[in-house]
Amino acid sequence: MLFAILNKTFGLINESKPTNVGFFMQHDVLIVGFGLAGWALTEMLKQEGKSFVVFDSQKESSSSVATGIYNPVVLKRFTAINRAQELMDYSIPFYARNVHANLLHNMPIHRVFATAAEQNKWAEASDKPALRAYLHDAVLANALPYIKAPNGLGEMQQTGWVNTMQLLTNAHQRLTQDGFFVSENFDYASLVIKDDGVQYREWRATQIIFAEGVGVKHNPWFSELPVIPNKGEWLVVLCKGLQLKHIIKGSVFIVPLGNDTYRVGATYARVFEDLNPTAQNKAWLVSQFKKYVSLPFEVVSHGAGLRPTVTDRKPIIGKHPQYPQLSCVNGLGSRGVLWAPFLAKLLIGRVFDDAFVPNDLCLSRFMPS
Ligand SMILES: Cc1cc2nc3c(=O)[nH]c(=O)nc-3n(C[C@H](O)[C@H](O)[C@H](O)COP(=O)(O)OP(=O)(O)OC[C@H]3O[C@@H](n4cnc5c(N)ncnc54)[C@H](O)[C@@H]3O)c2cc1C
Repeated sequence: MLFAILNKTFGLINESKPTNVGFFMQHDVLIVGFGLAGWALTEMLKQEGKSFVVFDSQKESSSSVATGIYNPVVLKRFTAINRAQELMDYSIPFYARNVHANLLHNMPIHRVFATAAEQNKWAEASDKPALRAYLHDAVLANALPYIKAPNGLGEMQQTGWVNTMQLLTNAHQRLTQDGFFVSENFDYASLVIKDDGVQYREWRATQIIFAEGVGVKHNPWFSELPVIPNKGEWLVVLCKGLQLKHIIKGSVFIVPLGNDTYRVGATYARVFEDLNPTAQNKAWLVSQFKKYVSLPFEVVSHGAGLRPTVTDRKPIIGKHPQYPQLSCVNGLGSRGVLWAPFLAKLLIGRVFDDAFVPNDLCLSRFMPS
């Protein structure tokens, strides 16, 4: 009993083991995709005492290259994101309670004002009820010698970043050791849909949940979802002496990673040739870092990834209209850190208890029954 409570509270292990049924391993859920969406599902299933196995080819993961910032405000428009407070209240404690809690870095974001007029906009915005908790009303003078912010800065609170790459690496390692991770591409043609669940080679389950990010375009049951890849590029730079203790946000984010390294990014592009990072974007990111930092630095790494975005800018969760044994979570866009735990809770509730999914997040808005 005590173990069950501890497990539910801390998500210690995958308590419910699969059963052997002849040649087959019977699980509660098969999960395809192990980015933030897939990872949050595994954590939620552990809490619920459900057994699962994950399939991931680890080729095109947006989550493992994400900067990992959580910030509930759209600074360009000074509006709170959809469900800001709900996401903050649910998802951030979810990371904090988790075994990977050391990868959650709470730190303020300092917005560099481009103009004096932006200071006034900030003051107005910080008085809005939806933003009051996040935007500190006072304009800060620049206290750091190597940061260029002649128009001052505004401080955001309740923000920070999650080391998503390390989180997924650690979680992948544990699941592999426990035998719950299959590091291969999921072959859709081998899935057999049965009345009481699904069968995939030697695995059987009552449910399969697809969490493939932009890879959903190859999924024969969910490819019609309007998930649009948005390419993002980033740099890691080594800049000795900068000693930033918070995130800087100008035209790009500058995030202190430790050991004098900083993540700079990211770019956004709906139109692109391939997934490779480009010299042009590298030059732009370098120029943006120089715009805010007056110290010399060197580029340590440069990479790119594809965000799974949706036309109406909201995530998608739900069951397939014809095959309720098949579910999907996708469209986490540029806010995967905040959305992943919250969506996992909603979807697991939907799958096992037929719980309500709000219309604006429901898959039925694109795939009606
Ligand atoms: C440069 C960049 C910076 C970002 N910065 C932030 C940020 O600061 N904060 C934030 O919240 N979000 C950020 N994001 C967005 C965030 O990364 C995404 O919202 C989130 O990671 C999406 O998670 P996901 O699990 O849905 O998809 P993914 O992370 O892409 O995971 C999908 C997984 O499915 C697997 N897969 C697909 N098809 C198959 C198949 N057939 N068989 C097996 N496996 C399969 C892939 O290998 C992949 O591992 C950023 C994104 C980019 C690109």
